[in-house]
Amino acid sequence: MPMFQVTRTATSTSDAARQAALADPGFGRYYVDHMAVVDYVAGDGWQEPRIVPMTEWALHPAAAVMHYGQEIFEGLKAYRRDDDSIWLFRPERNAARFVTSAQRMGMAVLPEELFLASVTELVDMEREWVPTSENEQSLYIRPFMIASEPYLGVREANTYRYAVIATPAGPYYSEPMKLWITPNYTRAAPGGTGTAKCGGNYAASLIATQEAYANGCGQVLWTDGAEHKWIEECGTMNVMFVTADGELVTPALGSILAGVTRESILMLAADHGLTAVERPISVDELLDGLESGQITEVFACGTAAVVTPIVGFNSPQRGEQVVADGQPGPKTREIRQHLVDIQYGRAEDKHGWTVKV
Ligand code: PMP
Repeated sequence: MPMFQVTRTATSTSDAARQAALADPGFGRYYVDHMAVVDYVAGDGWQEPRIVPMTEWALHPAAAVMHYGQEIFEGLKAYRRDDDSIWLFRPERNAARFVTSAQRMGMAVLPEELFLASVTELVDMEREWVPTSENEQSLYIRPFMIASEPYLGVREANTYRYAVIATPAGPYYSEPMKLWITPNYTRAAPGGTGTAKCGGNYAASLIATQEAYANGCGQVLWTDGAEHKWIEECGTMNVMFVTADGELVTPALGSILAGVTRESILMLAADHGLTAVERPISVDELLDGLESGQITEVFACGTAAVVTPIVGFNSPQRGEQVVADGQPGPKTREIRQHLVDIQYGRAEDKHGWTVKV
């Protein structure tokens, strides 16, 4: 029984235009024809869930989101398999994280079943927008929520809008990347918003990314807010290290985002002969480990790029350093392939992570 009431667009994208879009979708260039929307009113609760034509919104200029940034979002993908069936990957983890993000930002909590229904019913309706698995294409799904109440006082808003939009995503080759260890910026602090997927975290990260580019790197390696000593994550991904002792080490949860890809890879580590270890790891341990050969591979992981090999670092303390021979390592490649194969239904899904739409 669908939860969402549907109003269909009178102006669907033509088959020809959609085919042309899917032939070279890019990322965020085209959007599916509909979106899911649910409004929340304090005292009244969640209003009628609806799927409506994708269109612009009118918002009061005093809407709280535009002043104090009460906003959260999620990101997940729908994958088309070779038999044309369409699957999501662990959407219940995104639903759960949306709850913790909302709680941290003082926003209304969306019931997880409503999150799951919004994603499933929108993707089901827009099946034709899910690209083929060729080049690892997928439909990227973006659930989000804003504080919509017009009110300029600083307090939690009384009205919110939750919505889901989706964009076909082209091949993402996860090009090998170098990371800049910034001495100047931090992404998160103890007691801050690092564990929440809120827009403000990303706004605050942009200047550091510029610094990374200026230093010949593709992304920032974030360190802790107090001492710049402990490694946290990188860009919009979690970070992992393969050691000569056969460990897969990643920073423990605390002020980092609890990535779905991170959690999944930790569970796959044993299949690749690695022991998963979550613990604090310092910048010194990393840079010494690269020099001594104790750290043999580094990769970043997240929904968008899956697994990105990290082939070097640049830092004010030690300058440029290469990871091993500067090429993506064998464990990195194996783990990436394993995860992608589960997502596209080509490897056994032992943990029951994939959900058919
Ligand atoms: N860290 C940050 C800061 C992110 O934005 C993301 C992307 N959501 C991740 C890590 C990876 O999370 P996931 O594997 O759930 O995409």
